[in-house]
Amino acid sequence: MSSKQRTIAAPITFSGKGLHTGELVTMTVRPAEAESGIVFRRVDLKGEPTVAALAHNVSDTARGTTIKDGKAKVSTIEHIMSALWTMGIDNAIIDINAPETPIMDGSAREYAAEITRVGTIEQQAERHYFEVEEEFVFEIPKKGVRVVITPAEEYSVDVDVDYNSVVVGCQSSHYDLSVDYPTQIAPCRTFVFLHEIELLLKLGLIKGGSVESAIVVVEKPISESTRKRICKSFGREDIAAEKGYLNHLALRFDNEIARHKLLDILGDLALLGRRIRGHVQALRPGHFANTQMAMQLEKKLTTTIQ
Ligand SMILES: [Zn+2]
Repeated sequence: MSSKQRTIAAPITFSGKGLHTGELVTMTVRPAEAESGIVFRRVDLKGEPTVAALAHNVSDTARGTTIKDGKAKVSTIEHIMSALWTMGIDNAIIDINAPETPIMDGSAREYAAEITRVGTIEQQAERHYFEVEEEFVFEIPKKGVRVVITPAEEYSVDVDVDYNSVVVGCQSSHYDLSVDYPTQIAPCRTFVFLHEIELLLKLGLIKGGSVESAIVVVEKPISESTRKRICKSFGREDIAAEKGYLNHLALRFDNEIARHKLLDILGDLALLGRRIRGHVQALRPGHFANTQMAMQLEKKLTTTIQ
C-alpha cells in the first residue's frame, strides 16, 4: 500500500526558551513542496542558510540531536521532528531565529496540538518507504544500549528503559500506526536526574531549563544546602526534593519516561527521510544510538540506489 506525501496546511509558530542557551526562540513551521523533506532555515543568520533534517547532517547527540550543514546549525530538533513526522508531515520548512528549538514544557504536546489545529494537506508525490529486509543492529553493550530493526509490514517501535533507578523502575512503551500520537506520546516530557542537573548547571548548560520543562527524578534525598543551590539556579524558593519526582510532580502517564524515549526515537529515526516499514526494538535508547541507526539505514539506502 502506498500513500501520498503531506505538508502542513498553514504556518504554525512557537516561542519559548532554548533549553541549553536560555535564549528566546521563535520557530515557524511552514508548508513546503513535495520532495523537499523537512528543512530548518536559520533566519537570524546572513543569507538564511538551511540544513536538511537528515541523518548525515547530525553533528552532535549530547543531550539532544543537533544537525549542521555549513553555517546552519540547529540543536534539540528531536521533539518537533517527532511530532511532524509521526503526524504525517513529510515536507516542511522550519524558520528558526536561534541555534536551538524552544523546549516548551519538555514534551511535544504543543507541537501536536498546533499540527492538529491547522491540519495537513496531501500532495501529488508518492511517499518514499524504507522496506527493512534484513536485521540492523546498533549496540553499546557496556551501557546496555541496543537498537534493533527487523522486517515488518508496518512501522512499530518498542522501547524498554532501565536506569537502575528505584524511582523510575523498569518501563516500557509501544508505538504502532494505530496509536494516537497527540494524546498518547506527544504529552510525555523529557526527564533528568537531579544529580545530573548540578553538573549541567556548572557546565553552563540548561540555562533555559526550569522545573516546568522537565521531569526531575530525585533518586535519594538531598541536603538543604544543595536544595538551596538548585533553588537559586532556577530562581525559585519552593523546590521540594524528597525522593521521587521533584516538587511532587504528577506524571502524565505511569510510564511517561519510557513514552518520552519513544517520542525521541520517533524523531531521531525520522532523520532517515523515509517512512520505515519495519519493527524497532530499543533498549535504553538515546540520541547517539538512535541517530547511528538512522545513519546505518541511510547508508544502506544510498548503496542500494547507486
Ligand atoms: Zn526528548
